[in-house]
Amino acid sequence: MPERKPLMAGNWKMHHTHLEAIQVVQKLSYRLENKDYDDVEVVVCPAFTALRSVQTTLEGDRIPIGLGAQNCYFETQGAFTGEVSPTMLAKLHVQYVIVGHSERRELFGETDDIVAKKLRAVLAADMQPIVCVGESLAQREAGETNTFCTSQVRTAFANLPADKAARCVVAYEPIWAIGTGRNATPEQAQEVHAFLRARLPGDTPILYGGSVKPQNAAAIFAMPDVDGGLIGGASLKSESFLGIVNAAV
Ligand code: PEP
Repeated sequence: MPERKPLMAGNWKMHHTHLEAIQVVQKLSYRLENKDYDDVEVVVCPAFTALRSVQTTLEGDRIPIGLGAQNCYFETQGAFTGEVSPTMLAKLHVQYVIVGHSERRELFGETDDIVAKKLRAVLAADMQPIVCVGESLAQREAGETNTFCTSQVRTAFANLPADKAARCVVAYEPIWAIGTGRNATPEQAQEVHAFLRARLPGDTPILYGGSVKPQNAAAIFAMPDVDGGLIGGASLKSESFLGIVNAAV
């Protein structure tokens, strides 16, 4: 395992009402032991509607699971109907915000420039962005994986002061692996992570995301440049998320 404490973030996407979300974090907390939290940083990223309920559950029961959001807008406030600002998230004690997930890039037209603005807005509100990058299948087959992911990272981090860059997390999420059941092999993940590591400032943690399951997690997280995971489908149920967390312990 890498020397950095692995970060396991569950991206619940548009799943779980606030009631279901409370149940999942409670079940997770029953099964996680203190030493697990020492070994792994566990974070859940519920939908906006469940953030407040999950926050109060975590804080009320003193559960050391971190809280993340899946998105935010880059303005602090204003006439932006339907958007949620970084300030609003920070008030809920959100620590991490996923920015530039491929589903947002593909389905909601988020460009590299928007991702860069969101990253800065998240940092300005004293939270940590989890910046997602990753290639399509066509780009991988054309041998463009490393250059494409590097360009996404470069735009996101452009002119970012070192102290701010040090607060960012990157998630390498090959698009062809997200929700498909087809994960990158540990070697494929390691290759891209090592390539990005050499181009990223400081000690930026690099998570892998894309069809991680309890069965394949240990081999992926054993790679020296994989610092944890961004987990979608398999984080929705406490049993499978726990299996993945345990694989990183
Ligand atoms: C994700 O959406 O960030 C993700 C990694 O999804 P899945 O684990 O379901 O592939």
